[in-house]
Amino acid sequence: MMVNPADPTLSSALADATARALAEAEIRLPPDVLAALRRAAAAERDEIARRELGNILENIALAEERQVPICQDTGVPVVYLTLPPDIAFSPALFEGVREGVRRATAAIPLRPNVVDPLTRENTGDNTGPGMPAVHVTPGDRLTVTVLPKGAGSENVSRIGMLLPSQAKEIPRFVAETMLLAGGKPCPPVILGVGIGGTFDMAAALAKEALLLPVDTMDDYEQELCDAVNALGIGPMGLGGDTTALAVKVKRAACHTASLPVAVNVQCWACRRATVEVER
Ligand code: SF4
Repeated sequence: MMVNPADPTLSSALADATARALAEAEIRLPPDVLAALRRAAAAERDEIARRELGNILENIALAEERQVPICQDTGVPVVYLTLPPDIAFSPALFEGVREGVRRATAAIPLRPNVVDPLTRENTGDNTGPGMPAVHVTPGDRLTVTVLPKGAGSENVSRIGMLLPSQAKEIPRFVAETMLLAGGKPCPPVILGVGIGGTFDMAAALAKEALLLPVDTMDDYEQELCDAVNALGIGPMGLGGDTTALAVKVKRAACHTASLPVAVNVQCWACRRATVEVER
């Protein structure tokens, strides 16, 4: 039987799952990201860079011990829902997520970051028109994945409409994005790269790539990562071997006359968490 998401029980469970996912993401880094930071700290040759990575790891441990957010910029809520076939696609889904964001903002608490883009008036609860950003895909279970996104890294993200003949230029475009960013996005970063699709799809792919585990990279991702690390920007921009922990790529087919490439920069605080909605 088709379940209506406006059902108060389901709506409340969705809000609860969203709030729990946000609490998990804000306070604890995913194990693959933590492991990548530890590997980088062990391999780093520059002394100042090693100290910076040590400070980041200490910050992560203190956040978990004190149950507080890893960073003062708790980001804006980006949410991915998977929707099983028995749940109707309805505005109530979005309202459930919004309520979860409001609860998390008050309970954790989160910094109210969401403002009107022109008046800059703060809504006070991290919601607003189009915010949280909610993406829905079909799935077997009803799950909520959150990706709280800080501004320091989002602001230096970049998209380019390359020519089809410029596929070999992609590593340069990716490295150039980090060269322009320097220390602003709190390196070591993780880069989500979207290649193909359309202008908007490339950006969406780049953000989705940030949900992928960082413990493995294919040869192409490794090539991009090596190009970024050759810049020597280092942890917090103070120099060193570790500018990027990983580069993750998602691709889509595109027009024969197009080659969109988007780079979504993510700081070391690569926060993400998934919670299944209890039904
Ligand atoms: S870029 Fe990341 S680590 Fe730096 S202040 Fe923003 S959220 Fe925090």
